[in-house]
Amino acid sequence: MQNIKLQRTTAPKEKPNEDKLGFGQIFTDHMYIMDYDEGRGWHDPRIVPYGPLSLDPSAMVFHYAQEMFEGLKAYHTGDGRVLLFRPDRNAQRAENSCKRLCIPPVPQEDFINAIKTVVSVDRDWIPTKPGTSLYIRPFIIATDNHLGVHPSLSYKFLVILSPSGAYYASGLDPVKIWIEDDYVRAVRGGIGEAKAGGNYAASLKAQEKSDAEGYAQVLWLDGVERKYIEEVGSMNIFFKIAGKVVTPKLNGSILPGVTRASCLDLCRHWGLEVEERRISVEELVSAARDGSLDECFGSGTAAVISPVGVLRFGDEVMEISGGGIGPLSQRLYDTVTGIQTGRIEDEFGWTVEVK
Ligand SMILES: *Cc1c(COP(=O)(O)O)cnc(C)c1O
Repeated sequence: MQNIKLQRTTAPKEKPNEDKLGFGQIFTDHMYIMDYDEGRGWHDPRIVPYGPLSLDPSAMVFHYAQEMFEGLKAYHTGDGRVLLFRPDRNAQRAENSCKRLCIPPVPQEDFINAIKTVVSVDRDWIPTKPGTSLYIRPFIIATDNHLGVHPSLSYKFLVILSPSGAYYASGLDPVKIWIEDDYVRAVRGGIGEAKAGGNYAASLKAQEKSDAEGYAQVLWLDGVERKYIEEVGSMNIFFKIAGKVVTPKLNGSILPGVTRASCLDLCRHWGLEVEERRISVEELVSAARDGSLDECFGSGTAAVISPVGVLRFGDEVMEISGGGIGPLSQRLYDTVTGIQTGRIEDEFGWTVEVK
């Protein structure tokens, strides 16, 4: 295990009011940082006071977006423990993202140890109110000072922490989703299955369009035929059609969510019929019309489960579960958040305690 140097801040910040936490605007007192140089590998892991980086304007990340990130949370349990949810999955996915983007991967054990250590140092920053958590953002940037296009020979790996508020003010709240058939997010063979900033840059334009129409998020169709359902902005998508749980099969352009995998595991564990397959937008429209589209929900770390009340495709406005919350959405939400916060026994070994 790496020996992480610790330089504590001499100017601790005031902790925010837990009732007013939003998402991703407040950062804790410390951050983790480690450097990579060709020939030396990853070296000098350290925890330092949170603050700006100094980078040369020619640093490659600014020009060619050689960058990847992860997202997970630390939760306070009622009895004072701190839990991470399936961090091994994030470490594995980070490695996959790195490989796709020609970034030298951080060994999975060091990735998890970095997270545990920095969370432990800033443990006092983890909010305790129901629904709140500490959002953890690991990321890697290419730092060569060179405008040539090639994989960088130097990188920085950082982990920053942000106390975040309850996603739902009072219980699950259904969202309206816009099905986008003009812009696309990713194509097979591209970087859609990597968690990379570049995918988000590609998504902003359609998000702007759906905002203007009064929709919360975009549901992407496949990049080639614009016919098959892929995923939502920062969530995977599930349907319940004629009693079966259906979600798009991972095809190379869909981000493999940890929450997605957990929902699939739970549904199978409960004996529900589950299908990972292609789902065309026509199939959805006809299921909505004939009444067999029972439920729709998104899955992701931020909201855990986001019930979808309305899906809009062109002129077709599909109301689902009467615009409310379906029973499967509620059950998955209660179970996953229950395991994350230690209220429900973790029979799957998904949680990892931060000491
Ligand atoms: C992170 C992310 C998800 C959700 O993944 P989780 O591991 O469940 O948080 C889904 N889609 C995209 C594009 C993402 O970036």
